[in-house]
Amino acid sequence: MEIFKPLDLQKNVPIVADTEKNEIVRCLIIGSGPAGYTAAIYASRANLNPVLYTGLEMGGQLTTTTDVENYPGYPEGITGPRMMEDFKRQAERFGADIRFGIATAADFSGKKRKVIFDDNKVIEADAVIIATGATAKYLGLESEKKYAGMGVSACATCDGFFYKGKDVAVVGGGDTAAEEATYLAGLCRKVYLIVRRDVLRASKAMQDRVFRTWNIEILWEHQPLDLFGENGVEGAILIKKKGTHQEEKVKIKIDGFFLAIGHTPNSDVFKQYIETDQVGYIKTVAGSSKTNVVGVFAAGDVQDPHYRQAVTAAGSGCMAAIDAERYLSDLK
Ligand code: NDP
Repeated sequence: MEIFKPLDLQKNVPIVADTEKNEIVRCLIIGSGPAGYTAAIYASRANLNPVLYTGLEMGGQLTTTTDVENYPGYPEGITGPRMMEDFKRQAERFGADIRFGIATAADFSGKKRKVIFDDNKVIEADAVIIATGATAKYLGLESEKKYAGMGVSACATCDGFFYKGKDVAVVGGGDTAAEEATYLAGLCRKVYLIVRRDVLRASKAMQDRVFRTWNIEILWEHQPLDLFGENGVEGAILIKKKGTHQEEKVKIKIDGFFLAIGHTPNSDVFKQYIETDQVGYIKTVAGSSKTNVVGVFAAGDVQDPHYRQAVTAAGSGCMAAIDAERYLSDLK
């Protein structure tokens, strides 16, 4: 019997596991967004008998969106949850073993890579594909939840099209906010960029692009307070800083409210072993899904701060399964 004690980063207490009860698999996939399910489709078709753990949010971020119109192969569009159900069914058709469970700790120090699910189930795998995604940050307003999918979005590329010719607001001052505001400016009548400070964090080039775009109005030192509307977002109430101690309430009329205040990549559980950037995105070898740990691959938004699209996530899931298959055939 072997005892190992990886640090459970979520709870910060050591976990003791008994390998006699461990399950041994060839290919373990963690995450059930487009990256995870695509990896499962490819891995099962390559006879790797993959086991996929879904995580808490089965289907990933797409299950929180309504219509998806930019995924090739769905000319009429499809809802996010339905598309993820299709991905799942396709993976199951080829024998992928899909289970509900949350990765709570990992130990990549040995030859077999170990991951603990729900604090008690230990899986030992020859190859691991991490496809745990990223979580968009929200401001924490009650009205954000109320209007989720009804005017509130955290992805302009996904949902901008629904606001063609309308007025929208983007919250944030980083590169994502600048990029999303300029993207939306090409579709919408007017874009308010709501910035909490009197400067943008975005790179100089992105700032210039924002300043040059005629239909973007920057609301400096504004912070959203609430959203209102009958059957969806019709406007926002903002707090405007006036001088050092004064504030005033400002009302804007908008149909769409886009959050661009950053994402949190879901990599905490693996950080003890896997190299990430400062934000927490897993670093992969350029042009591949390989991480710094041999036999551990990463796909989808957990390793992608730039594109974050369903189709790019699916593509990188395919890459990870092919990389895993090649790695496993070299192991023989
Ligand atoms: P960032 O963390 O860089 O920026 C987040 C922005 O949101 C900041 O302006 C921040 O304000 C603001 N913000 C955070 N919390 C709140 C809040 N509660 N209320 C109001 N505003 C808030 O995230 P990004 O997603 O923009 O970028 C992440 C990384 O990805 C960066 O390294 C970026 O450079 C990179 N990136 C690169 C792109 C490219 O090269 N094309 C495109 C997109 C991203 P404040 O400035 O006051 O902290």
